[in-house]
Amino acid sequence: MNYRFSDASNNTPKSFIREILKLTQSEDIISFAGGLPNKTFFPVKALQEASDKVLANDGANSLQYSTTEGYLPLREMIAARYAARGVNVDVNRILITTGSQQALDLLGKVFLNKNDYVCLERPSYLGAIQAFQMFQPRFQEVDLSQDGIDLPALEQEMQRTDAKFFYGIPNFQNPTGLTYSLQSRQALGEYLQRSGNVMVEDDPYGELRFIGEHLPNVYAFAPDNVVLLGSFSKVCAPGLRLGWMVANPAIMERLVTAKQASDLHTPIFNQRIMAQYMQDNPLDEHIQTIRDAYFEQRMAMVEALHEYMPEGVTFTEPEGGMFLWISLPKNCPAMTLFPIAVKHKVAFVPGEPFSTEGNTSYDIRLSFCGADAATIKLGVQRLATAISELTSA
Ligand code: PMP
Repeated sequence: MNYRFSDASNNTPKSFIREILKLTQSEDIISFAGGLPNKTFFPVKALQEASDKVLANDGANSLQYSTTEGYLPLREMIAARYAARGVNVDVNRILITTGSQQALDLLGKVFLNKNDYVCLERPSYLGAIQAFQMFQPRFQEVDLSQDGIDLPALEQEMQRTDAKFFYGIPNFQNPTGLTYSLQSRQALGEYLQRSGNVMVEDDPYGELRFIGEHLPNVYAFAPDNVVLLGSFSKVCAPGLRLGWMVANPAIMERLVTAKQASDLHTPIFNQRIMAQYMQDNPLDEHIQTIRDAYFEQRMAMVEALHEYMPEGVTFTEPEGGMFLWISLPKNCPAMTLFPIAVKHKVAFVPGEPFSTEGNTSYDIRLSFCGADAATIKLGVQRLATAISELTSA
């Protein structure tokens, strides 16, 4: 058969990471490649209790069709969590999504025509690149530095390309682990208000800060210019597929229609379980447990990198999240390094798919949340051996 697929489908590549993960499943490989949260911390028992309660108390309604906007008590809990961190979010601005990944798809549906520009950080989250790619836009990358997006460059590129929005991840970015400073958030918010431009602020990692002070979302500085995305994937469990978006009512109206067309609503049973779970268990305490563990793992990784990485290798030192980013010397392309590393029984994700312009061939992403400190140390040693083998060849 010669199936006549759409241009959008023909032009959207498979997720490179999912392909790589297949290669690194073997037991004796230490994998820093996965982007998965550590499943040790999924609150299985508490979710089972919550699920039992929902079914026992209101079983039929929790299995019925429901509203597109999402379960009101859950939206109220999300608004209350923002309020506790000093960000005022009207509950009517919150739409529950099937993971924040769906939010990216809905934004594509609502904002993007073929050949429209999207500005994004260099590098950026490859799942977002993939989601937007389905709408056949053009991408313009803007440099990301230690304390945020290069604002003069962003202003220039937004204007030059007439981009529909800027997509950014200000907290512990996937893939680099970098975070915008307070000043950078303020300046970005001011620019968005001044220019009338839109930012999509993707924030699945914001609550996983283990060093320094929590910083307000860019949303707080420009609530009508920012669509803020959140997720329960990294603070509870990704398999529930529960995320949300916060948007101005005019954008919200469009998003609700797009979501109706996509899946009517996010599974109400999952939403009710999450709400029950949060009612019966302090989510903040649970998040603190995850934070403590990831902090220890991050410390172990950074320490080992300082100790073992050869000359010419640099890396980020994230204040939260799950990832850090290594820049390799110019005689060490990440794709060439990958099979050598696998031979030495350690795996990472090469940087290439995180850039739409191919500027990340000498970078790699490591996740520190999947292994204990001793395993991390051993894995970093192996990675250093692989790098030395390639660069001295
Ligand atoms: N955005 C970013 C930056 C991510 O890293 C991820 C998950 N890896 C997502 C969105 C999607 O998360 P989910 O759909 O599970 O909420």
